[in-house]
Amino acid sequence: MADLSYTQALMSDNSLLDPFGRRIEYVRVSVTDRCDLRCFYCMPPGFKDFEIPEHWLSFEEIERVVAAFGRLGTRRIRLTGGEPLVRKDLPVLARRLAVLPGVNDISLSTNATRMARHAQELFDAGVRRINVSLDSLKPEVFKEITGGKLQKVLDGLMASKAAGFKPIKINMVMIGGINDGEVEDMVDFCLEHGFTLRFIETMPMGDTGRKATGHFVDLQDVKARLAQRFDLVPGVMPGGGPARYVQVAGTDLHIGFITPISQHFCGTCNRVRLSVDGTIYTCLGDEHKLALRPRLRAGCSDADIEDAIREAIALKPERHEFRENPDKIVRFMSMTGG
Ligand code: SAM
Repeated sequence: MADLSYTQALMSDNSLLDPFGRRIEYVRVSVTDRCDLRCFYCMPPGFKDFEIPEHWLSFEEIERVVAAFGRLGTRRIRLTGGEPLVRKDLPVLARRLAVLPGVNDISLSTNATRMARHAQELFDAGVRRINVSLDSLKPEVFKEITGGKLQKVLDGLMASKAAGFKPIKINMVMIGGINDGEVEDMVDFCLEHGFTLRFIETMPMGDTGRKATGHFVDLQDVKARLAQRFDLVPGVMPGGGPARYVQVAGTDLHIGFITPISQHFCGTCNRVRLSVDGTIYTCLGDEHKLALRPRLRAGCSDADIEDAIREAIALKPERHEFRENPDKIVRFMSMTGG
């Protein structure tokens, strides 16, 4: 697999290049696989088979691993889950990661149910950018999708805006027959509050994700529909993520389309994931992984962690096969850290 040029690149450059020449500079750190919502496309109803606390990486262990990534050229860290705010003292971890050498961007993916309480603390800890899941602005539809209360999320969003996070990106998974009638309402909501809006195609992660793909909506169609009402021009947003953006002309509103199915973006993938149990997953849509926790707990050195990270990156596949092989991924999104 590793050809000569790849080996040479590894030897001549301290940063992380995968076997396909992609520079890995972004790590999504899942701090828990638990969540206070039950989005039907994400976690099976009644699911209780969570990782046991003894297997959770401690804040010290997460800090060591992130520091090693930082030495290897990682600049961006995103805290995710499950719902990251379900993990006690998340702002304490954020503060510790924010000061690590090399790391200059700490962001958070959250459902915002607990942001009314924690927004200011997280901002003060150094988190500057947040992504908030919000699939509907109708309380009954929100409840149907997530099992939770919309008002808590709206309160969390307003507290986040007041705390100063910028940008705040709204992630809306597009679910045919359930929330696809709310596209324009969500655009108006984001225009009103100065949020960025991203639409996401459902992914076949585990049985729950696969069931949801029965509600699949091709985002190319959503874009065409929006173009009838708005003057859309090409847009760019900071973040290094997979969304392709347009901007509504004459406004600050950016709209992103995350299209793992209709138009995959693996060629520019710059990330890996660290799960709460200390596994490095090299692709959301593949099983390639490296178990770091046993090494950490066997007393490995910082140099050993760097070696393990390089080993993991060498396993990164060229692309996912969500479309060609939708039954491949048995774990669901909250286990890996979406
Ligand atoms: N709890 C946090 C949140 O709500 O953003 C972080 C974790 S959540 C798993 C991350 C994102 O994954 C959310 O935007 C969620 O809607 C999305 N997601 C989960 N399962 C999905 C699926 N099968 N297809 C597409 N997106 C999914």
